[in-house]
Amino acid sequence: MVHSSVLGFPRMGVLRDLKKANEAYWAGKLSKEDLLAEGKRLRLEHWKIQKDAGVDIIPSNDFAFYDHVLDHIQLFNAIPERYSSQGLDRLDEYFAMGRGHQKDGVDVPSLEMVKWFDSNYHYVKPTFQDNQSFSLNDNVKPVKVFQEAKDAGIITRPVILGPVSFLHLGKADRDQTVDPISLLEKLLPVYVELLTKLKEAGAEYVQIDEPILVFDLPQKVKDAFKPAYAKLTDSNLPKLVLATYFGDIVHNTDVFPALSGVAAIHIDLVRNPEQLETVISKLRDKQVLSAGVVDGRNIWKTNFKRAIEIVESAVQKLGKDRVIVATSSSLLHVPHTLDSEKKLDTEVKDWFSFAVQKASEVTIIAKAVNDGPASVKAELEANAKSVQARSSSKRTNVPHVKERQEKIKAEDHNRQSPFPERYSQQKEHLKLPIFPTTTIGSFPQTKEIRIQRNKFTKGEITAEEYEKFIEKEIDEVIKIQDELDLDVYVHGEPERNDMVQYFGERLDGYVFTTHAWVQSYGSRCVRPPIIVGDISRPAPMTVKESKYAASVAKKPMKGMLTGPITCLRWSFPRDDVHQSVQAQQLALALRDEVIDLEAAGIFVIQVDEPALREGLPLRSGKEREAYLSWAVDSFKLSTAGIKDSTQIHSHFCYSEFQDFFHAIAALDADVLSIENSKSDAKLLKVFVDQAYPRHIGPGVYDIHSPRIPSEQEIKDRIAEMLQYLRPDQLWINPDCGLKTRQWKETKAALTNMVQAAKYYRSQQ
Ligand code: GLN
Ligand code: ZN
Repeated sequence: MVHSSVLGFPRMGVLRDLKKANEAYWAGKLSKEDLLAEGKRLRLEHWKIQKDAGVDIIPSNDFAFYDHVLDHIQLFNAIPERYSSQGLDRLDEYFAMGRGHQKDGVDVPSLEMVKWFDSNYHYVKPTFQDNQSFSLNDNVKPVKVFQEAKDAGIITRPVILGPVSFLHLGKADRDQTVDPISLLEKLLPVYVELLTKLKEAGAEYVQIDEPILVFDLPQKVKDAFKPAYAKLTDSNLPKLVLATYFGDIVHNTDVFPALSGVAAIHIDLVRNPEQLETVISKLRDKQVLSAGVVDGRNIWKTNFKRAIEIVESAVQKLGKDRVIVATSSSLLHVPHTLDSEKKLDTEVKDWFSFAVQKASEVTIIAKAVNDGPASVKAELEANAKSVQARSSSKRTNVPHVKERQEKIKAEDHNRQSPFPERYSQQKEHLKLPIFPTTTIGSFPQTKEIRIQRNKFTKGEITAEEYEKFIEKEIDEVIKIQDELDLDVYVHGEPERNDMVQYFGERLDGYVFTTHAWVQSYGSRCVRPPIIVGDISRPAPMTVKESKYAASVAKKPMKGMLTGPITCLRWSFPRDDVHQSVQAQQLALALRDEVIDLEAAGIFVIQVDEPALREGLPLRSGKEREAYLSWAVDSFKLSTAGIKDSTQIHSHFCYSEFQDFFHAIAALDADVLSIENSKSDAKLLKVFVDQAYPRHIGPGVYDIHSPRIPSEQEIKDRIAEMLQYLRPDQLWINPDCGLKTRQWKETKAALTNMVQAAKYYRSQQ
């Protein structure tokens, strides 16, 4: 029999219940007991959903109040002393590591949080000491929750993060030098103890995640699998299902002999269906394949026909008892249920599947394989109809978009002249001083702005009234920029809720949900727009506001757009056409916007691409170069349709460009503004080493904190930058947009920033 399985379920609940409970607890409005009870309620509800859907193998220990990696940090008592020495109770110690703790005389910042592979979820990085030791926390959570499910009549398969991934995803604490993987010997006994306890509690199988197997791994990390799995595969311990996801593991199959003791191996066949044959050929006798055919990362209905074919080809080689039908990864990355979407257009709603629906999908696929297609005839027919409807829909086949894409020529990607020629025209045209000052786009999003936007969304004020309000906001920020004496102005983005949603709402090809939240980190959730079809721009998107702003400003006004890659990355993309095609459609829409802005008298245009780096494929090499090539092309296509005298800016919220500097240079943006105040100015060295000819504004102060940098501090920062960059190359600006700040600190900080720029100007 083929079994069905889910690798993990979203934690938030139907109405982001966990977010609400956590935040109430942090605000002192919910007791610890009530928070724990809410967690228990959510776990039970999610197990029940999966059980009712007929899922054979249901996960436990996938739930976490904050983050599952953080759960493991506490579970193995890998808690840095700055937290464990505070006398906090277990739950508060846990949250202190996740989000910092500043209360009752305790003041500790959080541990570092970083992106979970190439997803938008963030995990807490395990942080190790040179004399690190591990032990099993007396609150053995995986065992407790296994028992909890068992008491409710559900035998689950506990999920734990494997020891090699746990170490490799961590780092040495500040001022420590320990190599995480060298801690394996010390860590393994704790895993053995944990697995023993799970076995005693009745767990026959445990899902052990080793997702790092999709990376290119240093040899010593590969080598660690052997001792690790020699210890963890023992007849006294539960059988292990070793799970990988978000990539293929073919380049790491030399690790397979080390895994010969695990009962099953899970692979992601949504991302990399082609790895199936190789992986099957490397399985040892009796080893089971868990086939991830239901997408854990995107919201599309599974194409049953295709999924069944994949599972059947595995069954042919291995037999039914050696194949599990599974989600490709945990469903953590998809929203809870489609049933909450009451406003979605029925045509597209029929194309989607969220976590609750995906739980049913694995069972239907398994049944089709076990009992033949006739046993789920109605489901298969309905699915085939949806798939067919989507592929033949007007939304996915917009002739004018396709025709335009076919006509794109190589030269459409290039500005008219090389930079020196452009720059001399821009200088003439914009008349900017040396060390020009600017900001990154947004100004404080005040309560008043949110109130008015809400009123407008709810229809409580008219479009004209809202427009008047926005104009008044623009007037105000222009007045403030006059007072500050900045050189290139912005309109402040008061009309924008979110830098991607705002554009999505103005483009054909996008839809929006009301409840489709996914966890980004801790209690924070995002609700990505969904690209459902071919993208085009029915009308200008930002011209009205920018034109108005330019008409009342005495200095050059900068237009502000979100770039094609960022629009793509921060949305749920289509899975029926390659992402490069979607990026190109977005680029064409933005190209028209850039041209329209120029025609409206906007001669400085910034196209933000903060998400460019996070789109980098997990492995270096061919795949990464291919991505960079279409990503760069889409940026260039969107920005190349204008005169030499118009200046293109781009913005990135980081300054670690070493790995892909050639791509940043290839964007050919006249000016780059980048985060730099929190990173080392040395990172700017790459611009010198590579003889980067164009202009750069490395952020001179941190906008994430209300702290006001002094003029001297900013001067010192500029001095550091001038060790690397030529004076005529340097722009003076903050790290990023100012929307999360208050006006008071914004004005004070920018006053100091302008003073510092003027000081250097006077020295020339
Ligand atoms: N222009 C945007 C702003 O100023 C940029 C935001 C970002 O880089 N994430 O808010
Ligand atoms: Zn930024």
